[in-house]
This record gives sequence, C-alpha cells and structure tokens, in this order.
Amino acid sequence: MKAKIVLLPGDGVGPEVTGQARAVLEAVAKKGGHEFAFETQLIGGIAIDETGDPLPPATLEACKASDAIMLGAVGGPKWDNPNAKTRPEKGLLAIRKGLGLFANLRPVRSYPELVDSSPLKLERIQGCDMLILRELTGGLYFGKQGREQTDRGLRVFDTLEYMDFEIERIVRLAFNLARGRKKKLTSVDKANVIESSRVWRQIATQVKEDFADITLEHQLVDSCAMRLVTAPTSFDVIVTENMFGDILSDEAAVLTGSLGMLPSASLGEGKLGLYEPIHGSAPDIAGKGIANPVGTILSAAMLLRHSLGLEKEAASVERAVEAALAAGARTADLGGAKPLSTSGMGDAIIAKLG
Ligand code: NAD
Repeated sequence: MKAKIVLLPGDGVGPEVTGQARAVLEAVAKKGGHEFAFETQLIGGIAIDETGDPLPPATLEACKASDAIMLGAVGGPKWDNPNAKTRPEKGLLAIRKGLGLFANLRPVRSYPELVDSSPLKLERIQGCDMLILRELTGGLYFGKQGREQTDRGLRVFDTLEYMDFEIERIVRLAFNLARGRKKKLTSVDKANVIESSRVWRQIATQVKEDFADITLEHQLVDSCAMRLVTAPTSFDVIVTENMFGDILSDEAAVLTGSLGMLPSASLGEGKLGLYEPIHGSAPDIAGKGIANPVGTILSAAMLLRHSLGLEKEAASVERAVEAALAAGARTADLGGAKPLSTSGMGDAIIAKLG
C-alpha cells in the first residue's frame, strides 16, 4: 500500500526517537512492498523559534492531507519562561483539536525481561496487558471555569460537561478495540456521585447491546485506581472520561517500569491518527544519543495497525521489540551492563523484524 506519513520530531529527544521509528517503518515498507512517503514538519519549541507559532498552519495542513502522524515530544527549559507569549505544549492541544482527535489510547504491558523494573511484585505484574482509552476533548478540562469574589469569600468552579454523542463515540470505539483483544471492557466512572458519570454508565450499557460478544463491567474510579496496583492483570480495555483517564493512565504507566517503553495513539472519527511515545522531551539526555526509542517504535506499530490497517506488520514490529529485549538489547534507562545507543536499539529491533 501507499501512505503519506508526517513526521513531527519536535524538541529534545524527539528527533532522535522519531528517527528510529522512521527507520523501522522504512524497513517494514521494504519487507512488505509498501510505499511510505515521509514529510517532516515543525511543532513545539522549534516551531516557535522558527515561526513564532507552536503549530504553524503549514504543519496542520500537511497533517490533514496525510494518512498518519508520528510525533516525538515538545517542550524544554528553553521555552519555560512564564512570560512567554506562547508555549510548545499549545502545539499539542491545537493539533489534537485541529484534527478532531477525541480518543487517547495507551497500551500498558509488562515484558518478562523487564519485570524487575516494575515497582510491583513480580507475581502481580507478570502478564499485565491492558489498553486505556481516555476521552480527550470534553469533561472537566474543557468545561466552564472561573472565579468570583462573593461576600463569603472567593468562589471558584470547574464544570464537567459532556454531550451524549461524545460519550457514545468513545465507548463504541472501546468496544470495537476490545473485540480485537480479550473481549473485556471496564467502563470507569463515579456514578455514585456525579451526574455526567450516571449518563456515561447508561450510555455504555446501551452501546453494549450492539456488542453481545464483549463483557462490560462498570467500575468506580477510586476502586479502579486501587485495582490497577493490586490486580493489573485483571484488566483488558479500560474506557473513561478525560480527567479520570489522565490520572489512571499515568498511574498505569509506572507499573511496567520505564517511561521510555510506552506508546500512545490519538484517534478521531476516521483513520487519521497521531502517534507518540508517552514521555516528554527528556532535556536531561537530549542530544546524547542514549534515549530509549522503544516507546516511539511501538507507537509506529500502533500507526500501522490503526491508521494503515496493517495488522500483520504492526504485530511483527511488536514481536521484534520482544525479541530484541529477549536477546538482551537494553538502552541505559533499562539498565544492563552494556547499554545500547538510541540507534543501536533501533538497529537491534530492525534486525529482528520477521
Ligand atoms: P520527560 O518524560 O521528558 O522525562 C522524565 C524522565 O524520564 C527524565 O529523566 C528523562 O531523561 C527520562 N526519559 C524520558 N523519556 C526517555 C526515553 N525515551 N529514554 C530514556 N529516558 C527517558 O518528562 P519531564 O522531564 O517532566 O518533561 C521534560 C519536558 O517535556 C517538559 O518541557 C515537558 O513539558 C515536556 N513534556 C512533553 C510531553 C509531550 O510532548 N507529549 C509529555 C510530557 C512532558
């Protein structure tokens, strides 16, 4: 197949890790007879430096005309000035909004070779393999907020709002994704207290009628937070609103050890998606060639699966990562006697591609 992929390396280690993801995608294309055309565009701090805008219009246009987008990371101390007119992170919010991306997918799984880096006991984390879906465009982060002086003191408020269709579309996506996995969906809410959660639960129950083959369970967010550390292997797919998802996905991210290992995808109505590692620009190690590229390479696997429909190729990248780890390949963050460089890790994975 032919596909247009926009690369947004961004700042810090972004260019180093996206370089390896591109190399993996090129190797996949060569093996499978596909034609992937790459175009590099600006986002984040580097875009501010060059154009004054963290998401220049040319970047958004190129992304809209593409099949998929591979992003590194944005931000760093250089742009941390609180008086600055704009910030690199604004580029991220703007691109998600500009492309209508409403679902953030974060797979979390444990690798047998790395279970020692988990803060959990071996028997708790072994076999952990879950996918967290966080709603990205509604909820508490986008509702009306404000502050006002009253005669009793300062009144401050945030509102958690959803439209029914916003809940339905992400819950439906979660059911569809569960269908390709272990067929179990946990819908997380706070229905004992919050009205929007009661509607969330009602809609999830209605959508379930179209998915007879999937098991649906409802769980309150507080007990879900506990279950993530006491029984992480009991989850398959989790779906939840924006803020709950923000917190739970970060909690889940530390379960398996290194931040450098974890991929993510942001999806909308169509096939177009944005793929990026969950880590930031890691300014402390940027430019040294030692960043772990695995999170970005696994994001490239998600790109193959969700935007290009190349499931076989996606699985082959995931197997290559497992095989490279099993053969002892480690970057510095994963420990090991002889750590590999960023490109050394990329090469070790490409060498294992089936
Ligand atoms: P970070 O994820 O950049 O780094 C946290 C720690 O993890 C650092 O010690 C770093 O060296 C290490 N680390 C991260 N990625 C690694 C990798 N691939 N390989 C090896 N080690 C890795 O988080 P931070 O330090 O809080 O933030 C740094 C900058 O990144 C800030 O400007 C922040 O705003 C930005 N940020 C961007 C994103 C994004 O682009 N999506 C996400 C988070 C933070």
